[in-house]
Amino acid sequence: MGRDLLIKNALVWPAARQPAIENGSVLVRDGRIAKVGRFTARADVVVDADGQLLMPGLIQTHIHFCQAIFRGAGEDLPLLPWLKKVVWPLEAAHDEDSIFTSASLACAEMIRGGTTSFFSIETVRHTEHAFRAADKMGLVGVIGHCLMDETGGYAPLAVDIEDALADLDVLQERWGGHERLRVGVAPRFALSCSGRNMRVASDYAREHGLLLHTHSSEQIEEVQLVRERTGKYNVDYLHSVGMSGADVCLAHCVHTQQQERELLAETQTKVMHCPSANFKLASGIAPIPEYLKAGITVSLGADGAPCNNRLDQFMEMREAGLMQKIRLGAEALPARDIVWMATEGGARTIGMEDELGTLEVGKRANMILVDQSTIHTIPSTDPATNIVYSNTASDVLMTIVDGQILFEDGHFTQFDEEKLRADVRRHRQKLMKRAGLS
Ligand SMILES: [Zn+2]
Repeated sequence: MGRDLLIKNALVWPAARQPAIENGSVLVRDGRIAKVGRFTARADVVVDADGQLLMPGLIQTHIHFCQAIFRGAGEDLPLLPWLKKVVWPLEAAHDEDSIFTSASLACAEMIRGGTTSFFSIETVRHTEHAFRAADKMGLVGVIGHCLMDETGGYAPLAVDIEDALADLDVLQERWGGHERLRVGVAPRFALSCSGRNMRVASDYAREHGLLLHTHSSEQIEEVQLVRERTGKYNVDYLHSVGMSGADVCLAHCVHTQQQERELLAETQTKVMHCPSANFKLASGIAPIPEYLKAGITVSLGADGAPCNNRLDQFMEMREAGLMQKIRLGAEALPARDIVWMATEGGARTIGMEDELGTLEVGKRANMILVDQSTIHTIPSTDPATNIVYSNTASDVLMTIVDGQILFEDGHFTQFDEEKLRADVRRHRQKLMKRAGLS
């Protein structure tokens, strides 16, 4: 920080529902946006955007850093066997170095693809090392420590709630005051947590002012099992154990009843939509236009690498649109609403709407420059259409977080990409061996 940055001669798109400004500029001072519009100014670093699109950085609100290194494992399985046979054994086999490497890989992929903020759910151990990686990589976001005390027969990941809260205390002490990162509380889902675990976790989060994050109603089989166990539909059950409200983030919500939708709206509970994961695990199509119409805040995320396999918000935006059109017709979910979910909706979900999601004076200078001159984007001139349907993650020319350029001209500026590749190969091999999967 400290050095002024001026991006000039850009197509500046300050917010999803605002028009873009041709020949626009953005001035950054001390990591924050100081001026937006048509003006000239001096700065220590000046970038000529050459007419390319400058927009807010993308925000992925449901992702698992610790699973990035599992990419390609657990193919062609439904959710519950995918968890039990592959994802949980790999999570249990993680050590400090494999978590650090996995989180670094996830952050690198997000930076390359224009994602500048996130909400990640980690595993039940070593969350400290996901924080270390995200700190080093320079992104802004929330890292949720995962809580599981009943694991449906997978004992190695069961942790007593008292021990999990002690881990959260340590994370809070070390990272609670970080300028870019926040601690989140993430009971995994209703089937791997007791009611007491959920209740104690939600009380703890409220006592400390932390966000809650869990999975809900991803697949029909899961909804049925929750009903058998609790007598309630998933969202109703979560509400009964304190897991509803403006500070609660529910990933998926694919299979919900009308009364659950009303409950989500009344309690201002957030929904995180993961189209690729829902396609790949054959979960179904979430009723996103209905949620938006009911006033529910919906945002987007890639979920974990083994159920996607990319952490690419451009692909999530495109699929979010396509899946609703096949369900409701071609007029469903216009591109601007999708960009809103990928930016402002994400900022609201992680409680950082005053800091992120739009290019406004005083907000963090988190923004991306996206190529509008590629063969696959011309001749369209509507930025929303291009971003959702024409552009790809590889069209991101520059990624800026808090005024720092993290990616430029095809290169990462803060770390050695070759070393990361070597670390990923090495730790993946060791991890698979520890998990008994190689
Ligand atoms: Zn997930």
